[in-house]
Amino acid sequence: MESDCSPRPVGLLALQGDFALHAELLSRMGVPTLLVRRTDELARCRALVLPGGETTTMHRLLRSSGLWQPLLEFAAGHALLGTCAGAILMARVITDSGGVEPLGILDVTLQRNAYGRQVDSFEAELGTTVTLPQDFAQSQPARGVFIRAPRILALGQGVEVLAVHEQEPVAVRSGRHMALTFHPELRGDPRWHQLWLASSDAGR
Ligand code: GLN
Repeated sequence: MESDCSPRPVGLLALQGDFALHAELLSRMGVPTLLVRRTDELARCRALVLPGGETTTMHRLLRSSGLWQPLLEFAAGHALLGTCAGAILMARVITDSGGVEPLGILDVTLQRNAYGRQVDSFEAELGTTVTLPQDFAQSQPARGVFIRAPRILALGQGVEVLAVHEQEPVAVRSGRHMALTFHPELRGDPRWHQLWLASSDAGR
């Protein structure tokens, strides 16, 4: 019997937020992508990115689209990458949640909009605790763009810190899942996506 050998795409949760920039970045890396708005689309993917955006809206749309439960089941066997709002949704606990329920995929506590109004957005150099994949267009160290970003207040067992800003974790990994409180896609920095895919492909 013939089998389809084309690689399965990496999905972009496309209910709301800046999924298009992630799609662009992954395409530049030569990774096939698929926008995910329905369960059958999710089922075709080998991994999924939860983009930044507005957590309350994304939460509502995850519920109304019927994707909430399938996403939980998908996460049990596939890699997820969450950035900012996506990271918040992946958390086990959200403080200042504004009614947003967390998916509970990653054993971390996140505080929404934790940097206050006057510094809603900023860019900063990150201290990385992992060696990022080599990319000649991007120089070490990495920089993070933070937009109304959350803070990671607590880490559960087995959650590894990959990068810090002012001694606080801003990139974490647990098994095949990764969460970033900043936006690498806004700088077009592919190294976090590469790191994520490399560790999830290795079957972590
Ligand atoms: N502040 C937003 C929220 O909590 C997240 C911001 C972002 O994704 N850049 O929904």
